[in-house]
Amino acid sequence: MEKKVRVRFAPSPTGGLHLGGVRTALFNYLFAKKHNGTFILRVEDTDQTRFVSGAEEYIVSCLAWCGINPDESPQLGGEFGPYRQSERKPTYRQYAEQLIADGFAYYAFDTPEELDLKRKEIPNFLYGQASRMGMRNSLSLPDAEVAALLKNNTPHVVRIKMPEDEQVSFVDMIRGLVSFDTNLVDDKVLLKADGMPTYHLAVVADDRAMQISHIFRGEEWLPSAPIHILLWKYLGWAEEMPKWAHLPLILKPDGNGKLSKRDGDRLGFPVYAQNWTDPKTGDLTPGFKELGFMPEAFINLLGMLGWNDGTDQEIFSLAELIDKFSLERISKAGAKFDFEKAKWYNHEWIKNATAARLLEEVKILFAGQGLVLNDDAYVSTVIDLVKDRCNLLTDFITQSGYFFASPAAYDVAAVKNKWSEEKAAFFSSYLEALTEGLSAPEMEEQFKSMAAAQNLKPGELMLPFRIMLVGGKFGPGVFDIAYALGTEETKNRITAALVAFNN
Ligand code: GLU
Repeated sequence: MEKKVRVRFAPSPTGGLHLGGVRTALFNYLFAKKHNGTFILRVEDTDQTRFVSGAEEYIVSCLAWCGINPDESPQLGGEFGPYRQSERKPTYRQYAEQLIADGFAYYAFDTPEELDLKRKEIPNFLYGQASRMGMRNSLSLPDAEVAALLKNNTPHVVRIKMPEDEQVSFVDMIRGLVSFDTNLVDDKVLLKADGMPTYHLAVVADDRAMQISHIFRGEEWLPSAPIHILLWKYLGWAEEMPKWAHLPLILKPDGNGKLSKRDGDRLGFPVYAQNWTDPKTGDLTPGFKELGFMPEAFINLLGMLGWNDGTDQEIFSLAELIDKFSLERISKAGAKFDFEKAKWYNHEWIKNATAARLLEEVKILFAGQGLVLNDDAYVSTVIDLVKDRCNLLTDFITQSGYFFASPAAYDVAAVKNKWSEEKAAFFSSYLEALTEGLSAPEMEEQFKSMAAAQNLKPGELMLPFRIMLVGGKFGPGVFDIAYALGTEETKNRITAALVAFNN
């Protein structure tokens, strides 16, 4: 019988969540949902030196924003908890001891200073089968000395004993057959001096304990795969081993290497899902959310980083991604991140969103500017008028601010040199003629026929009219704006602007 699909996203709470991390979470989630499986969030916090407070809450919040909702997690609990590795500490030592008893691991007593010295002496020093007998461990030292060291509680770690001259091979669901030469893999530490497992031991123990069926993780973990595979075998769990998939890297825009947080800082775009404030330094790293991305767009663009459905379709909702997702269409090659393209996705999503979907977002944005918008029907009309001019949600502030407050300033320079007494007279007469109850096309009709009657080109009057209402040379159709503002407000704006233009 096929194993039930259970996948996990297993971040370490060490800081902000890189978009590559969200992409890993997303692909796990898509695979789980596609196969009626379970998506688990497991927090890998065994490395106390790298632990950052607030990082777990931040990760949970990012996933919630994206709509990548776990079925089991530290917050939700579940049958296989706890879901924080630090809370599972007592479960790991037995495996380290089992491995030692079976000859697959050993105690190592080398101090950090001794290891540093070795690393200085020998470039690219590898603690492995070629060097381990020259180090201080339970393989190189006499048994009696080892027993004494252990009895005296001498600080020690447990290391895996990599076999000599073997190939560790496995079939990666994306890459096909992958092989590693065990002579080139070091004897990684499994249990640290403080009794905490390292990532390598904890990940294998927990993937088994949580009955993980498939592992999707970033390509940067590929070099760790031989260690994990050997651990599955050495612990006697080979039959239960999950299937592996190492997702293609997300590359810098120029394709040269992995996209890092620093590239975002350097090139001026976010790399994190949400704003992240480092609790130690107070430094703020910007996020896609706060910059004005819709989560639908963010998920969509991440889904296309290393996957496509084989057609030209680029816009996918989360539900469609679940429906169309297939392992066969994940590419091996790294995917370049293009921020202009990311904005294009967001533009498409904003443009096609209903006013109802955008209403709260826009109200929150304006509230942040100190403007409380109460008239939902009016705000919705405005959203529909300007949404296709917005690449970012934050663009609503500049693109629609004039609907909620009359222009603070006018682009007078755009009007002045062509301003004339005739034009001023036209607007005075227009003020008189403009009456309630006209539709936008009727207003346009009236405006144009009045211009013709006064021997003026309507085209030359539309720009000043726009600047009267908007303040600048932008926005949707000027009569749509006037109609939305209403007769009274339109008249007020004409009157105020005439003063500025005539001066
Ligand atoms: N804790 C690892 C990370 O921070 C998980 C790697 C894995 O999925 O095995 O990404």
